[in-house]
Amino acid sequence: MTPIFHPQLVNESFGDPVLFVDFLFERRALLFDLGDLAPLPARKILRLSHIFVSHTHMDHFSGFDRVLRLCLGRERALSLYGPRGFIGQVEHKLAAYSWNLVQNYPTDFRLLAHEFTDGTRLQRAQFRCHSRFAREDLDEAAITAGLLLEEEGFRVRATQLDHDIPCLAFALEEKMHLNVWKNRLQELGLPTGPWLQELKRRVRHGEADDTPVSIRWHDHAGAHEQSLLLGTLRTQVLKIVPGQKIAYVVDAVYHPENARRIVDLARAADTLFIESVFLDGDTQRAATRFHLTARQAGTLARAAGVTRLVPMHFSPRYSDRPDALQREAEAAFRGS
Ligand SMILES: [Zn+2]
Ligand SMILES: [Zn+2]
Repeated sequence: MTPIFHPQLVNESFGDPVLFVDFLFERRALLFDLGDLAPLPARKILRLSHIFVSHTHMDHFSGFDRVLRLCLGRERALSLYGPRGFIGQVEHKLAAYSWNLVQNYPTDFRLLAHEFTDGTRLQRAQFRCHSRFAREDLDEAAITAGLLLEEEGFRVRATQLDHDIPCLAFALEEKMHLNVWKNRLQELGLPTGPWLQELKRRVRHGEADDTPVSIRWHDHAGAHEQSLLLGTLRTQVLKIVPGQKIAYVVDAVYHPENARRIVDLARAADTLFIESVFLDGDTQRAATRFHLTARQAGTLARAAGVTRLVPMHFSPRYSDRPDALQREAEAAFRGS
């Protein structure tokens, strides 16, 4: 399977947790958390369409200004998602600057802020350059099961964790990955071509198996046309494999309800990025600071049955032994 998402941590393990997810076939990217973005070049930031903010502690939100500065003066929209209170915090960030000249810019940069309240509703507000970034409240959107964003090929879900304050964890899921069996195509005497993209789109949409699909093509023998049923093509030409899944979990205290939500969200993920702030010997310290230990993170990854674990968000108190947290998380993940 060729992965369509390319996730990459922006900072090293002791730096702010920021996950940049590039798309294979599009000039587009998603960002999970908005802390220090210094290592991220401007051209990558300008590829972002959606930014998901777990919570607004500074190490997760201080990169807001860099994004705003780069996007200002461009004709584009950017969607932001965050936990309860988020729209007000975006509003306050914007209110810290003077905007007396921007209403005359030839371009209108638009920020769309989404606030996750209880998993069934998303509050929404818009901030536009041409309106001097004054808050404009939009209708609430009803959502189910924490579904923040749904597009043709993927979805992003959130669950709310307890970090003394609400903190969101996210899962990015490709809907399904459709590969073409080239040899079966040849056996059926069918050509490759754009019709296969259209077929994939219709299968993803769940169109009925008895829908006719007409295929037209030209070759040296002339023009051809053939009509086959969607179900026939789906079973004979396409190989359906589960889509890629990436989970991102930061800043949460270890207790049964958080553990249940993390395991639910991350279940069977290809890669789980998860905070591993303290060593097991400092479990009490982790609890009073509402963070996970590396061992807890590894145990959760194991319970969720993920394929790959990436521990991160290490406390600087262990900077003299950078491998210790990694090793502890991996050991718990392996069950040793
Ligand atoms: Zn925090
Ligand atoms: Zn943090």
